[in-house]
Amino acid sequence: MKSITILGATGSIGQSTLDLLRRNPDRFKVEALTAHCRVQELAAVAREFNARVAVIGREDLLADLKAALDGTDIEAAAGEGAIIEAASRPSDMVMAAIVGAAGLAPTLAAVRRGATVLLANKEVLVCAGDLMMAEVRQSGATLLPVDSEHNAIFQVFDFNAPERIDRIVLTASGGPCRQTPAERLPFITPAEAVAHPNWDMGAKISVDSATMMNKGLEVIEAFHLFPVKASQIEVLIHPQSVIHSMVQYVDGSTLAQLGSPDMRTPIAYCLAWPERMTAPAERLDLGRIGALTFEAPDMERFRCLALARAALEAGGAAPTVLNAANEIAVAAFLGNRLRFTDIAALVDATLSLADMKAPQSLETVFALDAEARRIADGLIMKFAA
Ligand code: NAD
Ligand code: MG
Repeated sequence: MKSITILGATGSIGQSTLDLLRRNPDRFKVEALTAHCRVQELAAVAREFNARVAVIGREDLLADLKAALDGTDIEAAAGEGAIIEAASRPSDMVMAAIVGAAGLAPTLAAVRRGATVLLANKEVLVCAGDLMMAEVRQSGATLLPVDSEHNAIFQVFDFNAPERIDRIVLTASGGPCRQTPAERLPFITPAEAVAHPNWDMGAKISVDSATMMNKGLEVIEAFHLFPVKASQIEVLIHPQSVIHSMVQYVDGSTLAQLGSPDMRTPIAYCLAWPERMTAPAERLDLGRIGALTFEAPDMERFRCLALARAALEAGGAAPTVLNAANEIAVAAFLGNRLRFTDIAALVDATLSLADMKAPQSLETVFALDAEARRIADGLIMKFAA
């Protein structure tokens, strides 16, 4: 039996992970479950899986959590520090499924104790990729990519001979705005942006998919996860989301991983690695799908993708600032305080104002992240006006 801690247990990835655990009660036992503010949902799954610990991010909700766990011997805790502690507790695996840079410190705690970390939280690698990968090497932690594209590449990448790889191709659905007339884009509503054609995901990543910032973050994520240069990472639009990504070898062979768009497949791959386990995802029926199509991304329409690529090329502080500004922009868009097309504009403006010195330590990453958020926050009014 393997023990697992899930950071972000109430989210989309957290729920898909729990669904797989529910189907395999003899294989996994739950150590800790964490959530930001959904006390009742957290308590319900902590009870169902008989977790040892349940942690709620907001400290003011501790009494509610304790009440909801009354009559059990599940330990209740609250606050950021308690989430980090949960990640530090011994367990074989940690699913890092918090959204955004908020997941950085807890994910790092799991890495530092050498755990097997199932990484969904891509923002961690965007805002502190070099530092995080150095910590992984130092601790001997195992990092398994949950993100479907990176999981696909992981499945077909020959880590013994990276020099035989020409390039990796990240596929992208293009999201719900791929064909929206350009003049309509400024008026895309939050409801329209989160209605993804193929995947059912949390709000932030859904908006990122609509702007294609998600693919930009994934290019940076791939750069840190795989031994390739930025110039070897290509993005290809593939609206059916059947081919999850590809690796092209020097002899002209292209290897790909295919499947129906269900995150339980890459999560199951990580849970069972290096073996495989049964997952309930719908089996791929290519005969029924009929045609797979591809197109190059329109970099004018998807400015966020261009900004993320430029941030990766620039290096230093740029990816940290890009990520922080994007988190502020997406939250403002979801709160109807920013127009859809101003997400890219706000990120761009923040990048041009922020201090661009490369962060040398985790403390400087946090400081830079906070500074970029302050700048982006201050700029929102300008765009809203
Ligand atoms: P979600 O919004 O559905 O869930 C986020 C989880 O993080 C929740 O459990 C929430 O309680 C927790 N959380 C949020 N803010 C927090 C904070 N400040 N402190 C502590 N916990 C906090 O998001 P999701 O769609 O499950 O995505 C999670 C991560 O996985 C993201 O980084 C996303 O990019 C990545 N990812 C998601 C998918 C997907 O299909 N949903 C696919 C690939 C990658
Ligand atoms: Mg992805």
